[in-house]
Amino acid sequence: MNPSRTIRRLSAHTVNRIAAGEVIERPAAAVKELVENALDAGATRIEIILAGGGIDRIEVSDDGAGIPRDQLALAIERHATSKLTDEALVEIATLGFRGEALPSIGAAARLTLISRPPGQDFAFAITVAGGDVSATHPAPGSAGTRAIVEDLFYATPARRKFLRSPRAESDAAERAVWRLALAAPAIAFRLVADQRIVFDLPAQDEPARIAALFGRDTARAMLPLAAERDGVTLTGLAGPASCTRATTALQSFVVNHRPVADPLLRMALRLAYRDVIAAGRHPVAALRLTLPAEALDVNVHPAKTELRFADANGIRSLVIGAISRLLERPVSLATAPPAYRPTLNLRPPASPYGTPTFTPAARGFAEAELALLSPPAARGFTPAPPAPDHPLGAPVAQILDTYILAVAADGALVVIDQHAAHERLTEERLRGEFQAGRVAAQPLLVPVVVDLPHSDAARLLAEAPTLHRLGLDIEAFGPGAILVRAIPAALRDADAATLLRDLADEFAESDTPVALESKLDAALARLACHRSIRAGRRLTQEEMSALLRQMETTPRAATCSHGRPTFLKLTRTDLERLFGRKQ
Ligand code: ADP
Ligand code: MG
Repeated sequence: MNPSRTIRRLSAHTVNRIAAGEVIERPAAAVKELVENALDAGATRIEIILAGGGIDRIEVSDDGAGIPRDQLALAIERHATSKLTDEALVEIATLGFRGEALPSIGAAARLTLISRPPGQDFAFAITVAGGDVSATHPAPGSAGTRAIVEDLFYATPARRKFLRSPRAESDAAERAVWRLALAAPAIAFRLVADQRIVFDLPAQDEPARIAALFGRDTARAMLPLAAERDGVTLTGLAGPASCTRATTALQSFVVNHRPVADPLLRMALRLAYRDVIAAGRHPVAALRLTLPAEALDVNVHPAKTELRFADANGIRSLVIGAISRLLERPVSLATAPPAYRPTLNLRPPASPYGTPTFTPAARGFAEAELALLSPPAARGFTPAPPAPDHPLGAPVAQILDTYILAVAADGALVVIDQHAAHERLTEERLRGEFQAGRVAAQPLLVPVVVDLPHSDAARLLAEAPTLHRLGLDIEAFGPGAILVRAIPAALRDADAATLLRDLADEFAESDTPVALESKLDAALARLACHRSIRAGRRLTQEEMSALLRQMETTPRAATCSHGRPTFLKLTRTDLERLFGRKQ
């Protein structure tokens, strides 16, 4: 390429374009940097306006300290910052400090800064486009600063190619503001995306901000926590084990006022909930850590969302410990039922899980033993004996309100997980109906209003025609609220609010443009998860028989949609081995 091997200094222009790729890899990153600048400037109100996913235009206005006329040109120069002295790199209290954001944005896009410090009579503006800087000139503007970014990456087309759809870029940018708004509840935030008000939040206290951004219902279910250890404090709200989501979207971590996506904190949260929530589900939490600046290095990555803790182990135990204590609180303190625990307990009933109910058929094969367990609940009917063409046999008892015990014609003992089994049946039924045209819908006698984060509501409403094909009829009901008119008939016992939230997560997760079909497929599985028969519901003899007979004729009924088995079978030989009668 270049035959001469002379080492040359790169021009500032080239350096900025290289750095632009590192600091500003997508509109969300530019939005984050501009909002952080506004926060650092002591703003009390910040407004963010996005157009075309932020690719076309980003506008961030604040009422902060402003940039004096004679410093505008310096603000967009590389490594120029008002926030750091060469001596102070160890103690960083502001969100920015590297002096890279504005020059990077100015290298990749057209950036205009309009600013008026409160004491200055007029506002002045400066524009950088593809690295070329205009003269500073007077402009109309109120006290504070407005940064306008247009045509992101027009100067670096290679970057532009890596951007996703405007919808996906807008989601990411909205998410970046969502995190910052959670980190700074005392600051008013207004976010508008393509003329849609995503949120408009007054200055508020932290619980109110969490409620506004997590959704009121979710926030109500969450529990406060507070812990301290070696000068590090942990505060916030975390969900009980019964309040989980399909993705990690409702997890927020703030460290010393900075929203972070730190792997250590994510992992600690996961470990804390590992034993109490089902695989594939995620806890909800809004956590804030406050620690001395010297115990933290934020200068790990240009985007400053990763950290290095001086005492990583200490932080991990603090988080896990505080959440474990929260999860141990008596159930009566939590608003929702206790977590589902996958234990099979054939011994006398452990009281928290309820008393086993035995059908009269059970008396026949072990009268004396069963009498030791609990008085059988006589129901006054005689179950049909197991027929040879019923491989899952006849139900004889329900254990722990979760498992069905059945005996097959050949004497095999069958234990069925009623929830897993029903989930698979529901999914297959929905899939069949869907393939035949449309899933049967059950209109709700009283339509249900569900409160959701604004972006979730918008996302669901955008998919309303698709959801209609899935038997779910929804319509807009004011900002952040959705009116549910009908739900799939197969799910008539499901809770509409949980159902909508899970679907919103599903659509948010697949923000790459996936084929509609696979989106629907995922949505079907997600819907089926809204079991009409939950673990913990007592079933009648007829319901149990019906479930077993349906399983025998349903494809793929041996596993649930998550791949777990729906039943276990112990044959005569298995039993003889277990009791040592045979080798
Ligand atoms: P950094 O934030 O790391 O200092 P930036 O490139 O983001 O670097 O900004 C450079 C400088 O411009 C800041 O240090 C600050 O003095 C000034 N500045 C940028 N945005 C604003 C704003 N919204 N209000 C006041 N000053 C600002
Ligand atoms: Mg900055």
